[in-house]
Amino acid sequence: MHTASIISIGDEILRGRIVDTNFAYLAKELFLLGLNVIYHSTVPDKEEWVCAAFGDAVQRAEIAISTGGLGPTPDDATRKGLCRFLNREMKFDARIAQNIRKFFEHRGIEMSENNLAQAYIPEGAVPMDNPEGTAPGIFLRTDDNKMIFLLPGPPREMKAVFHSVRTIIEKELQLVPPKIKIFRTIGVPESLMEEWISALVFPDDVSISYYPSLRGVDIFISAKQDDSLNNAQSQIKNILEKYIFAEDDEELLLEQVIGKILRERNETVSTAESCTGGMLSSRIVDIPGSSDYFIGGVVSYANEAKTKILGVWDKDIEEFGAVSQKVARQMAVGVCEKFGATYGISITGIAGPTGGIPQKPVGLVYIGFAAPDETLIRRYTFTGGREAVRTRSATAALNILWVHLKYGDVKNYSFQDGGEWV
Ligand code: ATP
Ligand code: MG
Repeated sequence: MHTASIISIGDEILRGRIVDTNFAYLAKELFLLGLNVIYHSTVPDKEEWVCAAFGDAVQRAEIAISTGGLGPTPDDATRKGLCRFLNREMKFDARIAQNIRKFFEHRGIEMSENNLAQAYIPEGAVPMDNPEGTAPGIFLRTDDNKMIFLLPGPPREMKAVFHSVRTIIEKELQLVPPKIKIFRTIGVPESLMEEWISALVFPDDVSISYYPSLRGVDIFISAKQDDSLNNAQSQIKNILEKYIFAEDDEELLLEQVIGKILRERNETVSTAESCTGGMLSSRIVDIPGSSDYFIGGVVSYANEAKTKILGVWDKDIEEFGAVSQKVARQMAVGVCEKFGATYGISITGIAGPTGGIPQKPVGLVYIGFAAPDETLIRRYTFTGGREAVRTRSATAALNILWVHLKYGDVKNYSFQDGGEWV
């Protein structure tokens, strides 16, 4: 397999001021092209560091790709560092200079002469078009035939120039892109999922990665051969099918899937939230067109809001507390009736970090689900800080709604979300 290394160049990255999203983008794209990215370094905008980084990178891999430091100012050291490493001179490229002039003319901005610094590129280098800015990308081969690509730092420009990198790499190398399958899952913790999947046996060329978040776990299966991929994906689907809400579409959200079903069925939903303070309704409303099925929500944070707006009984709050099965039930039923929705979902819990007591610890959350024929309550004890507890609560609520819409029989679904019916 052909190998590549990536160099991120910039003081701001080393100071933690900017997050190196360029690296993530490049690493992902190169993997999808069929390259093995084996090395990544980050160096400051200093000629000697850049020089050393290129030395390292091409020693380890056949291709080195850098981002950053291609601007016209003296603090941009990438071109000079590369020239030092190659032991080559810079040469003036009249076509680049022409493009830079045009770029400024086109935008009606006066060009400062130091912009022409970008028209100097190492001997033997070929510029790559940058439709988003003035710094062209640069492509060259070292004396021992390694490929080096220089990309600008601003992410939009980097991506624009990467098109040329892709074209060159595909033309020069016989790459075999990996076959990929993506499952987006909800309701199974990563550890349990890994345990299940580790009991399976896959062909050697299969690799599996997990990308957990507070909203679910994505599974990426990659393989060299189609057969291997089919083998792995059908085994995994076999054990996880109930929990998969999307395939192959990394962007598709659970709330989108839910929205689609609700719209098809002409059903509606309403929410009553305490500790999540609107997070659940916000996630529902994130989806364009949600007005077709989302009627409204109540953030009933204080007890009065629960009693006055949702009709929760004072005496139940007194006797059982605001975070209780009884209150979750009345909130869900109350909001459902108030709005005349098909479904009412309620969340009441202790998000922390304070407010917990031994019988009701931080992370204790009740989620109520009122459907036309039944009202169900689940109790959870979530881990993590305030933000995590709140996000997990909203996710769990969406999970219950999705299970109902997709499978109908919520009570007999094998939830793995850590909750229990109460
Ligand atoms: P310019 O002409 O804008 O100076 P450049 O190619 O010299 O372009 P840099 O000066 O290294 O690029 O970076 C410019 C900006 O691009 C940074 O301030 C930062 O916002 C963004 N940037 C640079 N490198 C990265 C990276 N690795 N990941 C994400 N953003 C980056
Ligand atoms: Mg710069």
